[in-house]
Amino acid sequence: MPLCGSNKHVIPDNGDGHQSLDLMDGKLVKEDVFPCLSRGSDAFRVYLTSSELILQSVKDEQTIERFQLEDLFGCHTLKHAKKANEPGAYLCFYMYPKNKRSGILSSVKSRERTPLVFLVQKPGKSFKENLEFATKWKDETLKHLRSLFPVWLNYKPFKSSSGSVHTTHEEDTVGQNLSDSRNYLTTTPEFSVAISSYHLLQRRYLVILNPKSGQGKSISIYRDKVAPILQEAGIKAELFITERAGHANSFVSTANFHDLHGICTVGGDGLLFEVVNGLRSRPDGSQIAHIPVGVIAGGSGNGLARSLASYTGESSDYLKNPVLSTTLAVARGRVVQVNLTEVDLDEKRLFSFLSAGWGLLADIDVESEILRPIGEPRFTVWSLLRLMKLKTYRAQLSYIPCSHVSEKPVIREPIPETDVGDISARTSIEGDFISIYSSIQSYIGSDLIFAPKATANDGRIHLTFIRSNAGRACATQFLLALDKGTHTNINGVTYVAVKEFSLQSKGGIGGNLVIDGERVSAEKMIVRISPTPLNVFSM
Ligand code: ADP
Ligand code: MG
Repeated sequence: MPLCGSNKHVIPDNGDGHQSLDLMDGKLVKEDVFPCLSRGSDAFRVYLTSSELILQSVKDEQTIERFQLEDLFGCHTLKHAKKANEPGAYLCFYMYPKNKRSGILSSVKSRERTPLVFLVQKPGKSFKENLEFATKWKDETLKHLRSLFPVWLNYKPFKSSSGSVHTTHEEDTVGQNLSDSRNYLTTTPEFSVAISSYHLLQRRYLVILNPKSGQGKSISIYRDKVAPILQEAGIKAELFITERAGHANSFVSTANFHDLHGICTVGGDGLLFEVVNGLRSRPDGSQIAHIPVGVIAGGSGNGLARSLASYTGESSDYLKNPVLSTTLAVARGRVVQVNLTEVDLDEKRLFSFLSAGWGLLADIDVESEILRPIGEPRFTVWSLLRLMKLKTYRAQLSYIPCSHVSEKPVIREPIPETDVGDISARTSIEGDFISIYSSIQSYIGSDLIFAPKATANDGRIHLTFIRSNAGRACATQFLLALDKGTHTNINGVTYVAVKEFSLQSKGGIGGNLVIDGERVSAEKMIVRISPTPLNVFSM
């Protein structure tokens, strides 16, 4: 047993006196003895601290298991379905600690579902009393979990106790208050109802699913792997299955979002692109734009989800099991802000959370569609074909570089300032290009690290281009180096971090103009960072 640490709790020993249990930095909240059904019904002394759940075997006090509250994704109280007369209530904690090795030789650990089920059955107490007792444990645990990971508060107007209608303001929902719900509770009593009722009531998410995404298995993925986790996390999910391309966009552009805590997509970047643009096109878009969106990686291209996993140290979990990793992020309900770009195309404006480009990479993205049944390898296969038939595109490319490219640390908290301050002069190049491609996140696919220096909201567009005279050898090296992120070092490839760029076709837009992997049509495209970022669920 660890005996070090400043914050110790004295516990009785079997034999000679007392020993201390290291609470690390946590404060003891509750302790009791329960049989644990997921540990052979042995009795355990259970300690809930402000940061951990600690199990100490009653039989052998040296046996201690520690679970971080940050690995808890749901907590329920239940009644045994088959033991109608049993007075005991069940208290379940759904933990996903990182304790399973990714491979026999691997030292990397990945998250594994570890339910802890306790029987709460106090002598002489009725089921109702035991349930009340178990519910207090649940509420107390969720309260501490929420102070570690506050959930996004609803934007909807709701009545305060005085009967007046108070609408949450932008800053209330995503600003500093989000990072400290305890402070929030004490300073704005009206909202204490919303926060404390969260522990008792369910969160409500709209889940939009593209049944054609990836290899067409999204429905069974959702039913078997996603829905159970959302349910355990206390999320009421309302499922909307798209029937055609554009359906998600038209649905979210008119749907009633009263009382909604988030929208998550099951599909690829293309589905999220529809959702983001549908939301921003609404007349009440400026308010609705704050609803957090989440991605459950069911597509063949999930650049945003992959990037978020890399920023939060979840890369190996993501690569091992993208559906589990992204579902847990959505279930946790923690929100971060990511950059969005405004893309002006001839007559209309679209919003992009990932990439925009023209030429080689864009063509591979779109044309590989016919190889969809093979999954993500379609991009590699099509790259080889496209290199054999290399094309060039005449364009005027114009950009405003960010004057200094600062290396920012991993984003764990929302809203750092973007560095759009001092800018140097606009650069314009007219000529033939093999590829022009940009991203505002690090990964554009599972193993395509397009902008290794990118962070979630650094205010920079990472632009690369290859002029026609660089030739096929350069284009080949460029594609081969994308999985290592070393493509920007290749002779003939220009990389520049910009705050804005424009692309004007000279002599016809042949090829594919692509935003977030989706084909668009225009003669001219202007891409700049949007002043309103996107709120996304992230670990
Ligand atoms: P993937 O990553 O596998 O490409 P996406 O979610 O990005 O999956 O979707 C690919 C395309 O499918 C997008 O253009 C999207 O608009 C379109 N789409 C969405 N729903 C449907 C549907 N029900 N039938 C056909 N296409 C759809
Ligand atoms: Mg796609």
